[in-house]
Amino acid sequence: MAEHKLRQIAIYGKGGIGKSTTTQNLTAGLAELEKNVLVVGCDPKADSTRLLLGGLAQRTVLDTLREEGEEVELNKIMKPGFKGIKCVESGGPEPGVGCAGRGIITSIGLLERLGAYTEELDYVFYDVLGDVVCGGFAMPIREGKAKEIYIVASGEMMALYAANNIAKGIQKYAKKGGVRLGGIICNSRNVDREIELLKAFSEELGTQLIYLVPRDNIVQRAEIRKKTVIEYQPESHQAVEYRELARKIEENQYFVIPKPMTQERLEEILVEYGLMDLVEEYHI
Ligand code: ADP
Ligand code: MG
Repeated sequence: MAEHKLRQIAIYGKGGIGKSTTTQNLTAGLAELEKNVLVVGCDPKADSTRLLLGGLAQRTVLDTLREEGEEVELNKIMKPGFKGIKCVESGGPEPGVGCAGRGIITSIGLLERLGAYTEELDYVFYDVLGDVVCGGFAMPIREGKAKEIYIVASGEMMALYAANNIAKGIQKYAKKGGVRLGGIICNSRNVDREIELLKAFSEELGTQLIYLVPRDNIVQRAEIRKKTVIEYQPESHQAVEYRELARKIEENQYFVIPKPMTQERLEEILVEYGLMDLVEEYHI
């Protein structure tokens, strides 16, 4: 039998790009494959597990610590969601107070102390906010917890700017630790020539476009019902897409230290794929 290996994966990408939606649907797909998954929300918004839990009801790790002190039990911070996926929300300080990345550091430390990283786990996913990998938000990769990263992007210019900045952060930590980029996930915005653009962008970074998730309003319909698409309409086309993404990640063997590009090169690629008008609009 092959040696059992826990894969710890961090999902990065610009705010609003679809990290939490994609992570939850993809982990739902992995759960259907009988994988044992833990999702750790690393966004002070604490909405990384809402679709898996059927609502935001859960208290965050930081809230729990504030209200109950250090003597907490694991089941107070880790709740079972769809098909037994284990869900944790790190939470954050009150807005404007302290380092927003603090919650992640505290959460991972506490999860380790309470024995959440068991032998049975196949995957841990960290859903991390941010356009850049810095401070507390770099924690999952800086401390070598997550060795595998995926960046969620789209054909929109700002999403690619953010993805390139994130690649810079990954490159920095990859030199010291073992962290590698596993690919770009395109969460489509239906921009013209989006696949070609994302392929060219991924290639320039030295990585792969691992999957393109189509844009579909069924995502919103499921979201209103506090469900992943996989749970809400398992037979739908979009559910099939998320399962396929899950399979790609399950089978991925291609891990690299990314080579971020210069601003000039990024703009060249954008111009080449027809985002010229946008480039002019933003005066860059
Ligand atoms: P992030 O976690 O990166 O901030 P979210 O996952 O919260 O982003 O996504 C932002 C919004 O985009 C969500 O409210 C969701 O409805 C929508 N969305 C995400 N992916 C898709 C998709 N493939 N098709 C349609 N809507 C999507
Ligand atoms: Mg999110």
